[in-house]
Amino acid sequence: MTTHLVLVGAGHAHLHLLKHASVLRRAGYRITLVAPTRFWYSGMAARLLSGAPRNACSLDIAALSARHGIEHVTAPFVALDVHTQHVFLADGHHIAFDVLSLNVGSDVVPPIQTGAIVPAWGDARYWHVKPIERLDALRQHVLDAAQQHRALHMVVVGGGPSGVEMAANLAGLSQRLGAANDIRLVTRHSRLLPNAPDAAARWASRQLARLGVDWHPSVALDGNTGWLDFLDVSPDDIVLATGLRPAYCVADLPLALDDNGIRIKTTLQSEQHATIFAVGDCASLIDHSLPKRGIEGVRQGPVLLHNLIALQNGTSLRDYHPPVTALAIVDMHDKGLALYGERWRGGRLALRLKRYIDTRFLRRYR
Ligand SMILES: Cc1cc2nc3c(=O)[nH]c(=O)nc-3n(C[C@H](O)[C@H](O)[C@H](O)COP(=O)(O)OP(=O)(O)OC[C@H]3O[C@@H](n4cnc5c(N)ncnc54)[C@H](O)[C@@H]3O)c2cc1C
Repeated sequence: MTTHLVLVGAGHAHLHLLKHASVLRRAGYRITLVAPTRFWYSGMAARLLSGAPRNACSLDIAALSARHGIEHVTAPFVALDVHTQHVFLADGHHIAFDVLSLNVGSDVVPPIQTGAIVPAWGDARYWHVKPIERLDALRQHVLDAAQQHRALHMVVVGGGPSGVEMAANLAGLSQRLGAANDIRLVTRHSRLLPNAPDAAARWASRQLARLGVDWHPSVALDGNTGWLDFLDVSPDDIVLATGLRPAYCVADLPLALDDNGIRIKTTLQSEQHATIFAVGDCASLIDHSLPKRGIEGVRQGPVLLHNLIALQNGTSLRDYHPPVTALAIVDMHDKGLALYGERWRGGRLALRLKRYIDTRFLRRYR
């Protein structure tokens, strides 16, 4: 008898399972994947925005599933019944599972916590940096405006790594198109990259200035109106890079949850259910407060694979130990900022290293 393993979301850790589907099958699993047809790689979000081809920044999940003999269902996952062991999909279908693993990622934290939506600003369009594929539409929007010789006033909200990447690459794209777009960045902090060393943040600030981005510190985003009143122009576009929270689809799941997502033990099993696993940005490792970053999912992949097989064989499960420090490289269009704990290095070499790491990651699954 086979055990039905349902994987929801084709995030980083599940990509590892897809690649090792034959090992899971040998352990007695039949696998169904519930995921959109493409995986958009956040490591290449900035490149997607600044002009890299769509295919270079994403993976064809339908083709990957077919190659590894996995049943692939594209309707989004919306709900879960832990008693009858079913997942429910947006198209009304449901799928029974014996073992479930969730890897559905994250969405952007709304900048105003008090209201349901962000405050309106005239006719400004809002662009969330996640899902990553929205950045393809944003790039097209900038291209269209350039073709019509329309200069855009754009405000990036958020001074963390993704906000800095977005501002730098919007400026780089604008320069390449010869468009006189006005790119600003606002942050509620007194400086950019609050988790980076001071000197690295100053370096990033100089690079933004070189690219023609004005950035504004200490902008309070806790009122409902007038939050961009100090700007001398009305923005056409507001890009929200205000941090990440677990994907909206996990918010109402009947599982133990906290602000960081589905509570999981070090074995990656849900706190209450031994046959339900969660990984990546949608999961919250109990007693840890991990940053939302791709490296967690990448490192959880092999542990998840081991533990699914161990569960089936009745052998011991392995613990996931998050890395204390991990390399992060911010793509600043023509230069990179490499951060590793208190150490940092900015320049073209850092960007080349990022390109190499990201291309190699995607190549594993092509
Ligand atoms: C602009 C930007 C740049 C970033 N750059 C980096 C970087 O360089 N390095 C880094 O480590 N981190 C980076 N991050 C953070 C990174 O995006 C996340 O930490 C990482 O993607 C989390 O991986 P994951 O596997 O949990 O989820 P994801 O990579 O988000 O994958 C989740 C998958 O689940 C799918 N899914 C979602 N909802 C459903 C549903 N209801 N049903 C079925 N499938 C669903 C999604 O389509 C997606 O394919 C960046 C984030 C942003 C916004």
